[in-house]
Amino acid sequence: MRTLFCAAALSALALTTASFAEMPSGGTAWNITADLTTEIGARPAGSAQEAKARDWAVARLTALGFQKVRIEPFTVTGFVRGAETAELTAPYQHRLHITALGYSGPTSKGGLSGELVYFPSLEALRAAPEGSLRGKIAFIDHAMTRTQDGSAYGPYGNARRQGPGVAAGKGAAGVVIRSIGTAHQRNPHTGAISWPDGMKPIPAGAVSLPDADLIARIARTDKPMSINLVLEGKAQPDMPSGNVIAELPGRDPSLPPVLIACHLDSWDLATGAFDDAAGCGVITAAALRAQEKGQALRTIRVLWAGSEEIGVFGGAAYAKAHRDEPHALAMESDFGADRVWRVQFRFAAANKPLQDRIAAALAQMGIAVGPNRANGGADVGAITAFQKLAVIDLDQDGTRYFDLHHTPDDTLDKIDPSQLEQNVAAWAIVLEIIANEAEAILPAD
Ligand SMILES: [Zn+2]
Repeated sequence: MRTLFCAAALSALALTTASFAEMPSGGTAWNITADLTTEIGARPAGSAQEAKARDWAVARLTALGFQKVRIEPFTVTGFVRGAETAELTAPYQHRLHITALGYSGPTSKGGLSGELVYFPSLEALRAAPEGSLRGKIAFIDHAMTRTQDGSAYGPYGNARRQGPGVAAGKGAAGVVIRSIGTAHQRNPHTGAISWPDGMKPIPAGAVSLPDADLIARIARTDKPMSINLVLEGKAQPDMPSGNVIAELPGRDPSLPPVLIACHLDSWDLATGAFDDAAGCGVITAAALRAQEKGQALRTIRVLWAGSEEIGVFGGAAYAKAHRDEPHALAMESDFGADRVWRVQFRFAAANKPLQDRIAAALAQMGIAVGPNRANGGADVGAITAFQKLAVIDLDQDGTRYFDLHHTPDDTLDKIDPSQLEQNVAAWAIVLEIIANEAEAILPAD
């Protein structure tokens, strides 16, 4: 999906023999994204790679002039991937492209073999009689489509988050889902499962969309299907993780800081360029740019959260550690690197003039205003809910986000430098206004 290039990048490419991937654009957001994905790469929650990424982040934020740069450690139950294969064994033989979902239970030696029972949706699985899947493997299909605002991920993503628990509750020995994704490359998409409390995890994997299409076609013939699964990854408790926090101090330290967040961890299948190295690049570059005309009134605090992907542990740890410390407002960038097309607020009526000022500044960039119900994002979710903070969402174009999300294809070459810079520009406009606002900013009721 390298369809979008900025004109400057194209002309530079024409003038040199360097490949696009070797050519830095020089911006802070690009440099963070390129260097983090090159020098560290995949950084799964709780891993040694994530620990290296924290040290890398401390060094980079310090070099960029941030102050009070520190790591706030916590421990997590991580997921360590093992061997993973799947073979449809009847009525036809096919090797499938599969990946384990986060917190899948492991298969035993030789794998798990059994009848594969097709469900066209999570709702169809929920309607299956209790105990009807005993010893069988459930297949959960769905019909997720591309959307600009990414809104399909909420409902269709439940096939991954909740589907394995629903299948296990009906006696299933294993579960396979159509990847929660929108591209027909033969890449499976991983992502975490939420098991109901006390439930023993069963093996659970996602197959690529073409493999899911194959299973759906065969299911329509009513011929019995069977599958062999080898999914040896498993949960591992007590792994070290942590948040990296840094600040650009404001002129008035008595005013609560503006909190802006991204997440430092990534899934293990790729280098996590879209998800979420780019987000860290955007917020950090924008914080610096918002200060270019001089030190802001309020402190801008950046949170590069750890262990988001497997359950937003960094966001929870941040809220616990900082629950008694007031914050002015929270924002987050965790939806790839494509352009900002809309701003949403969650502001009280009293702050409408401020909202209008921000909206007018963003209108100059062609950014539209959405409804007054921004949600802030995963990593600031806990502190926002606890302190009832006002939030602003800069909504990015999510049309191709779920082509890449949680796949081996989430790599640097997918980032369009011009769209990345558009994000920085939009964020800097908002931060400059917010960080210089003396009045308290209140959320909508
Ligand atoms: Zn993310």
